Amino acid sequence: MYFKKGIVSKRIEPAPGVLYVVGTPIGNLGDLSPRAQSLLKNVSIIACEDTRHSGQMLRHVGATAPLLSFYEHNTNTRLPQLIDFLSQGKSLALISDAGLPGISDPGEKLVSAARNEGHEVICIPGPCAAITALVASGIPSHRFCFEGFLPAKSNERKKFLSLVAKETRTTILYEAPHRLIQLLEELSVFCGEDRPLHISRELTKRHEQHIGATIGEALEYFLINKPIGEFTLVLGGALEEINPQKNKEELIAEMKDLVRNGSSRSEAAKKLALRHGESRRLLYALVHKIDFDGGN
Ligand code: SAM
Repeated sequence: MYFKKGIVSKRIEPAPGVLYVVGTPIGNLGDLSPRAQSLLKNVSIIACEDTRHSGQMLRHVGATAPLLSFYEHNTNTRLPQLIDFLSQGKSLALISDAGLPGISDPGEKLVSAARNEGHEVICIPGPCAAITALVASGIPSHRFCFEGFLPAKSNERKKFLSLVAKETRTTILYEAPHRLIQLLEELSVFCGEDRPLHISRELTKRHEQHIGATIGEALEYFLINKPIGEFTLVLGGALEEINPQKNKEELIAEMKDLVRNGSSRSEAAKKLALRHGESRRLLYALVHKIDFDGGN
């Protein structure tokens, strides 16, 4: 059923020759949408990362379509077969072990191949750990980038970490539990331990937990509490330099004025951020450095 300008219209789903990229839960079965359930029940073939893993969820919704494994190491052989099915007019659903296919799994290759061959691709949206963690974090979400897993090789990892450290947008990372402490130690070296960080553990599951609010605090927590489960990290962006066209001295003078006239330091930073469109975090940092009794 589709809603368009208040009118409900119907489109038959699944349609022949269409690839459906279907979002599945990241832990809580209740998050599988009715549309995804109906699609999975009626589609001709389902491609999934691990047939045993997805079998349980598919049995739960009563899906009986043949399952084909599609994972990183069989992508080259499986891809042409899946495209053939679409060309024969079969409808195909792609699911991953959890969440949205194409986000840190091989889905993107199938989507791109299907489009290149002229097949329609429809995404049935569902949960994604990255977005779920971002919106729960309280870290700015109006500009962000997703980096997924860091490279494992030491040289590539260092290069990557130095880029992440300079990134001014919020960055979302995935990490395995056995590498979490190493990653936190690296982030602490590259970004400083005071950088805002929010870690979401076991999102949507019984033991969902949120740990923050800085790299240092998260590291301290996990040095005591062994990391177990699945983790998504939301890292605050690097502070942008004060706009060079704006005179720092003038900003300091305005801050002093505001504080003399009764604003707290935090209020002064907030007002100036609004007034000049500068980063609030940057102005907080500046206002706390000012010596209001003597010089700067
Ligand atoms: N396609 C998935 C998505 O949409 O989020 C991500 C697949 S990626 C192979 C798996 C990684 O996602 C995990 O190692 C973890 O970092 C993150 N993740 C998945 N489920 C999670 C959960 N329930 N809580 C926290 N992080 C999760």
